Amino acid sequence: MKRHYYCPTCNATLNPNVKVILTAVKDSSHGLILLSPQPGNYEVIAAEELNLHAGDLLELRCPACGRNLASRVNDNLAEIGFRLSNGLDGRACFSRRVGEHATFFITSEEVRSYGADADTYSTLNFFGAGDVETPER
Ligand SMILES: [Zn+2]
Repeated sequence: MKRHYYCPTCNATLNPNVKVILTAVKDSSHGLILLSPQPGNYEVIAAEELNLHAGDLLELRCPACGRNLASRVNDNLAEIGFRLSNGLDGRACFSRRVGEHATFFITSEEVRSYGADADTYSTLNFFGAGDVETPER
């Protein structure tokens, strides 16, 4: 099923073609990073100037509006919106740490986790109190 990813702030489409495109900032360097839209696929294409190494913690930003995509749920995660072709809407949270494989797809019904490191975050409450989902359309 085709997944449409979007910025939770400006609604810009983050996968206009195949890959999810984000801006990554590491120390004083920044560049584009391309992620697989498939849950559990951790292939990453990163701009050479980012000089990524396992363990690096990246600041991820929307390439359209520049907004920091850090998750409110956990500081190590980034968060973007997703929508399926059947209209199901939710949030995708994933690790900002290079080489850490943890991804969560959260809808109002359930949390689906992917990646070998997902258990590290098993105590998180993705439906956290006060985090009210309000439809924006
Ligand atoms: Zn944006």
